[in-house]
Amino acid sequence: MTPLAQLIAARIAATGPITLADYMRDCLTHPVYGYYSTRDPLGAQGDFITAPEISQMFGELLGLCLAQSWRDQGSPPQITLGELGPGRGTLMADVLRATANVAGFHAALSVHLVEIPGPLRATQSRLLAQATWHDSVASLPEAPLYLIANEFFDALPIRQFIRQGNGWSEVVVGLSDAKLTLGQTSPAPLAALQHRLGDTQDGDRVELCPALPGIASHIGGLIARHGGAALFIDYGDWRSQGDTVQALRGHAPTDPLAEPGLADLTAHVDFEVVANAASPAKHTRLTPQGVFLERLGIAARAQRLANGLSGPALTAHLAAHRRLTHPVEMGQLFKVVGYYPPSAPTPPGLEP
Ligand code: SAH
Repeated sequence: MTPLAQLIAARIAATGPITLADYMRDCLTHPVYGYYSTRDPLGAQGDFITAPEISQMFGELLGLCLAQSWRDQGSPPQITLGELGPGRGTLMADVLRATANVAGFHAALSVHLVEIPGPLRATQSRLLAQATWHDSVASLPEAPLYLIANEFFDALPIRQFIRQGNGWSEVVVGLSDAKLTLGQTSPAPLAALQHRLGDTQDGDRVELCPALPGIASHIGGLIARHGGAALFIDYGDWRSQGDTVQALRGHAPTDPLAEPGLADLTAHVDFEVVANAASPAKHTRLTPQGVFLERLGIAARAQRLANGLSGPALTAHLAAHRRLTHPVEMGQLFKVVGYYPPSAPTPPGLEP
């Protein structure tokens, strides 16, 4: 057992089974043993790779998208350039490099990062010395907000339910022979899942992310009050369906209960919830990542970069372009939803 598994087992022995969300929260963000509190999961020895680590084109195009939104809104002179869960800081560094020549943009912005305390903040500060760090979105400045969150919502803890009649039994983590094991509560009606009685059947599983609506609606509020735009990119779909909890260690799937604190845990994002939380800001249509990047001009950017490359570097560049955009790679599984103020055009590449 990992040290965190022993802690969780002791807690369950004392007070009973815990929700998957409580389990995931400890695994990911426990201050001493949490996965993100103790390591850089994206490094060379890391467990997974993300779009900005695959190619600089991802951050460059997102940066130009935000800078164009800023210009479309009259180039406000004092803005927050924000990111949720900035990982190694690569995405924000690419955004800043790509927008260096957008007149007035850098003079107007200050960088604000939402990240849990831990080694990732130190990694981020190496690339982003001028940034301000926040524990949560609640302390982001009251100012126009241009924000990116890539693979952030998928790291938030989820609860999981199985439909039984018109009620739901919750999947919980309990103990069997002193080992962590999954169990189920007896079914009960649940107001938060009333809307899912129409599109599910007995035995179907659905997931709820308790923290997501509050975080997303805080951002929607800032954008509605002050202007700005947000780009949420993640894997998931419109409405959750099925068991999407995944554990990854060393780029390979593992049992989510086997190594708490040592493996990354994620769940697919329910973009209907992201969209519903936008109000009073507006949200765009759900758009596949590949389509979004094509509309922002990734083909032309890829060609420009390819002109300066040859041999293995060119092969890697072509593979990275394909990986970000092709439907059988990340192009279709990953989706984008944007937020924007009611009075402004949609961010480039997205539709109302
Ligand atoms: N956006 C980056 C990293 C994605 S990994 C990229 O695309 O490469 C998830 C990121 O979210 C990490 O930086 C992790 O530390 C952060 N994170 C996870 N849970 C968080 C929480 N509850 N609050 C703030 N940051 C969190």
